[in-house]
Amino acid sequence: MKEILELRINYQYAHLLFNEDEGVNLGDPLFGPPSVKVVKVDTSTPLWEQVKKTCDYVYETYKKTFYYSWNFKRIYTTKEMAEAKLFKMEVRKCFEPAGEECGTKYDEQSACPICGTGRKQVSPLKLKKGRFLNKRDVARTLSYEIVVSKRFVEVVQKNDIKGMTFGPVYLNNKLSEDCFQLMMEGEHLEVDEQTKFGGEPYDIYPDEGWAEGCPKGDHLGLNILSEAYVKASEALSQYDFLLSRQTYGVKKSLSPNSLFYPQHLLFCSPRLYHVIKDNGLKGFDFEVAHVVENIDQLSFHKL
Ligand SMILES: [Zn+2]
Repeated sequence: MKEILELRINYQYAHLLFNEDEGVNLGDPLFGPPSVKVVKVDTSTPLWEQVKKTCDYVYETYKKTFYYSWNFKRIYTTKEMAEAKLFKMEVRKCFEPAGEECGTKYDEQSACPICGTGRKQVSPLKLKKGRFLNKRDVARTLSYEIVVSKRFVEVVQKNDIKGMTFGPVYLNNKLSEDCFQLMMEGEHLEVDEQTKFGGEPYDIYPDEGWAEGCPKGDHLGLNILSEAYVKASEALSQYDFLLSRQTYGVKKSLSPNSLFYPQHLLFCSPRLYHVIKDNGLKGFDFEVAHVVENIDQLSFHKL
């Protein structure tokens, strides 16, 4: 696996580490110098540490951030993909407005008062009519309500995929025949401690508590910063679609009026991965996820 961190660098300080012709400079030449330099950092090279040192320097000297935003891309070999026992799935497209803004009802009584994990959807998903799927088979709202195409549901049912359930979607208060909600129900996997969560890749900048997880343990941090690791579970051999027990994302108590809610990690079996790929279903990104065996169990098997 090759891990690439794409950074949007504050152009003002980019020269401290990068040559003018490195990466891609963004901005309008009519309005002066570029504002952003986009660079790709292979995290297995010395550049990874050099970026950290420059971040520290720029923050200590100028009280400014060296980069504005970031994104990890993980590239796998064919062998790594073929040998994977589990995949993490992500929904690429996000659209607005969210269900809550269109009349979807939630019961917040069961939600954690700190992070908001555990609220219950108590009405069908109501959304505004729009082209949110637009040739895709999956898209999500800011609150992580996931909508899939009719074809997606048909393929999943035809292939007897275990653990995926669907609910109705109302568009402008009319029951849709073209899309369905992918329900956040099903078996939970326990996230292993090896999975790294936090605010940003280098964890340098002060964040007033946004980055850290909920003290109740139901939420692990603002962003996932590594590949996902889960503890071995019987459910892995029984289901094709599974969710992490824990969530991550914006803690509700820090942003009570926003539409952001913590979300679960989504996992799929190699079988579901191949069903999605073989049928050309579009809109999911996949990464290899790792299953961590219980050490006691391993030594027991050896005896
Ligand atoms: Zn919580």
